Amino acid sequence: MLSLVESFYSFQGEGKFAGVPSIFIRLGGCNLSCAGFGVEFEKGVGCDSFKAVNREHFEHTWKKIDDLTSIIDSYLNDLDFKPDIVFTGGEPLLYFQNPTLLEALEYFQDYRITLETNATIEIDFEKFPIYKNVLFAMSVKLENSGENRVKRINQDAIKKIVENTKDSFFKFVLSEKDIDTKEIKEITKDYPDVPIYCMPMGESAKELAKNDKQVANFCIQNGYNYTDRIHIRLWDNEEGR
Ligand code: SF4
Repeated sequence: MLSLVESFYSFQGEGKFAGVPSIFIRLGGCNLSCAGFGVEFEKGVGCDSFKAVNREHFEHTWKKIDDLTSIIDSYLNDLDFKPDIVFTGGEPLLYFQNPTLLEALEYFQDYRITLETNATIEIDFEKFPIYKNVLFAMSVKLENSGENRVKRINQDAIKKIVENTKDSFFKFVLSEKDIDTKEIKEITKDYPDVPIYCMPMGESAKELAKNDKQVANFCIQNGYNYTDRIHIRLWDNEEGR
């Protein structure tokens, strides 16, 4: 069984494949709790994925599913081209051994699949070689996440991902208050060939606008790739986008 928070068809709003039509599968649960992002919701404060993270208030809304393939197929049936497939969360790697997820990865292996992860969970790529076919968007959390450093940085997990996958990349979230290369350099120093994307913090267009120019200039100065959050720019925090 998997905990499915939501699925929808839109386009990728951020990172290396921003703008690419994509089917999103959002899975419930996370091994971190990044209060530092300070997104307020009616029952507390959390990250912008609070509905996929906060078990206390939202787990009852997650659907227990044992057939992901049919859900993805229901979107594909309406399309005459191949979109990307994106697994996100929460932290989708909580389920990396789950038969329902593995079955879907096998079934759609001819598609470009991205897994959006905080890159703290170590995958056994020899036991589960299907993950070598997956792109990892490694959104390693920085100090501004508010999470404990020991929990948010696992160099062994990052190393395994980089060594076993093609085209994976780093994605860091920055705000105007905490722009600094120090942690980014520490985390990425052993992987000079892995692209680094930085994106502005903000769960609304208004919040993004507070951070975007500083982050863009920071990228220009340091040779990082800037990524916007196009879905937020276009639709603010509307659900299913
Ligand atoms: S790792 Fe991502 S999903 Fe999990 S709590 Fe942090 S920001 Fe939210």
